[in-house]
Amino acid sequence: MIDLRSDTVTQPCAAMREAMARAEVGDDVYRDDPSVRALEHEAAAATGKAAALFASSGTQTNLLALMSHCERGDEYIAGQDAHVYQYEAGGAAVLGSIQPQPLDFDARGQLPLDKVEGAIKADDQHFARTRLLALENTQHGRVLPLAYLRAARELVDRHGLAMHLDGARAYNAAVALETDLATICQPFDSVSICLSKGLGAPVGSVLCGSDALIQRARRWRKMLGGGMRQAGVLAAAARIALSDGPGWLPDDHRRAAHLHKRLSQLPGASVRADWQQTNMVWLDFEHDAGSALVAHCSQHGVTISAKARVCRMVLHRDISDHQADEAADVIAAFFNN
Ligand SMILES: *Cc1c(COP(=O)(O)O)cnc(C)c1O
Repeated sequence: MIDLRSDTVTQPCAAMREAMARAEVGDDVYRDDPSVRALEHEAAAATGKAAALFASSGTQTNLLALMSHCERGDEYIAGQDAHVYQYEAGGAAVLGSIQPQPLDFDARGQLPLDKVEGAIKADDQHFARTRLLALENTQHGRVLPLAYLRAARELVDRHGLAMHLDGARAYNAAVALETDLATICQPFDSVSICLSKGLGAPVGSVLCGSDALIQRARRWRKMLGGGMRQAGVLAAAARIALSDGPGWLPDDHRRAAHLHKRLSQLPGASVRADWQQTNMVWLDFEHDAGSALVAHCSQHGVTISAKARVCRMVLHRDISDHQADEAADVIAAFFNN
């Protein structure tokens, strides 16, 4: 099957499986696992932060970040459709007693900074304490410009807030901007990076930030049941994701651009041209074609997920040039018939 549902579906490559089999391990709760320590050291260096913490998922690293920045009764500002607010089961509210202040993204996937500023609460007993701005990059495959990140930093500095990056796909943003990851992460106090998406690791995310923040996050991770023992078997694969994974992403972006182009002239469907910046292709339908398209694709060896009138396709290392073309043929046949 050609699986375009997400870049989370990548299988660990042969080098990862071999590294997992050979990994030197120890009990990571005692900080005795050399593979985890090496991964954390490398992730901190890549993001330009002092320290890093390996965790089971990006949902967990985002939650650890929110709980480490905010206390009970504090508030974070995030996008209405941001992963951390919308797709993490309300963890920050449920487990952290942290209130979200969601704001609509604009047409480019950015939180308008005047709206952010307007949402920051005054120091008044009626209000939750606004503590943190959480941004997402890439946002639905769209890249936040560096100038926007700098302006957001100036804003949070003016108001004494911290700033967290949900950088699940921050490496994709770095590739698109032809810059390094540390430049993308520089304006942020903390950054969460998924190693299990386009970077190809089977499991894991890292949270990067100051020593003090990571120390707090380590305690929360233990409390949440996320302290792992011989986690080096996972870290071994994650280290390859971190070192080799970014080199695979330009191919994903090129294949996404190709698929986008192949789908750009279909009757009854239109691609979102300005959203095609990294490894995702977004296709809108004029009618409620989603479930019929999913069924058609599945009959022809292509797995997608779609809502009634929109489909997001995600390119990744396990989709070759040829398979991207094949998927385009299958989808085009649906709309042409
Ligand atoms: C995938 C993703 C996460 C984390 O997801 P997990 O499946 O928990 O690793 C966080 N934020 C964004 C934007 C994501 O796409």
